[in-house]
Amino acid sequence: MAPPPARLRLDGETWLLVLTGAGVSAESGIPTFRAAGGLWESHPVEQVASPEGFAADPALVWRFYSERRRKARACEPNPGHRALVAIEERLGDRFLLATQNVDGLHGRAGSRRMVELHGNLFLSRCARCDRAPFPDEQEHDSVPRCEVCGTGLLRPHIVWFGEWLDPAHLQRIEAFMEEARSERFVFLAVATSGLVYPAAGLVSAARRAGGETWLVNAEPPENRLLFEHVVEGQSGRILPEFWTWA
Ligand code: NAD
Repeated sequence: MAPPPARLRLDGETWLLVLTGAGVSAESGIPTFRAAGGLWESHPVEQVASPEGFAADPALVWRFYSERRRKARACEPNPGHRALVAIEERLGDRFLLATQNVDGLHGRAGSRRMVELHGNLFLSRCARCDRAPFPDEQEHDSVPRCEVCGTGLLRPHIVWFGEWLDPAHLQRIEAFMEEARSERFVFLAVATSGLVYPAAGLVSAARRAGGETWLVNAEPPENRLLFEHVVEGQSGRILPEFWTWA
């Protein structure tokens, strides 16, 4: 008989940093990037997810993201998203979720202490002026213009290939680890291939901060050997069951 899966023990003294990737939304019906063979809706990623692609054909990029908005809106959070909300409710400010997903499902499930490292499908910003990103649920058939500066094109608030992550997000994660390191610190990566940096480097940073490292993934990813505890399986099935409260 197979041994029972390892369980993560949490208590009121635990600090928990969670990193999620595209696989956490797979059971909600949103395909992972790699499952699509490196293509997004049959487009090479550079065409629809890079500043150069946007400069070359902004209308194509907006059609692509409008379709992704439509599809993401039709999906619902799954038990994996909800399990992270339940853990956050126990731990309060000792919890932080860093997600690479842009689909907004963690927020819709109820996650609050969260950084969306790669942006959010339902926010737009001006490609030209410094207007702050704003909520935008619309599906655009043509390229929308910024009403604030009057000249810039609006673009999805997504971190594209070749762009930098928001330094404020990385600072928030670093500050969390700094506070956590003097107590019991746990780092949990869920459903991420471990290939996209800087998120993929968080496990090493967590180890340097003395963290206990856990991974929940459908298959062993590239950086599997960096984790002390690995639980294989679908996050929507594993996450609700694999933690206990002491
Ligand atoms: P990835 O597609 O590279 O890897 C996903 C990982 O999840 C794989 O290791 C796979 O084995 C695992 N997985 C698949 N289904 C799972 C499940 N049900 N339970 C547990 N594990 C499962 O994704 P990535 O590493 O997150 O990087 C791709 C980038 O593409 C991300 O940075 C993200 O910004 C973007 N993306 C986002 C979404 C989204 O918002 N839902 C979807 C696709 C891509």
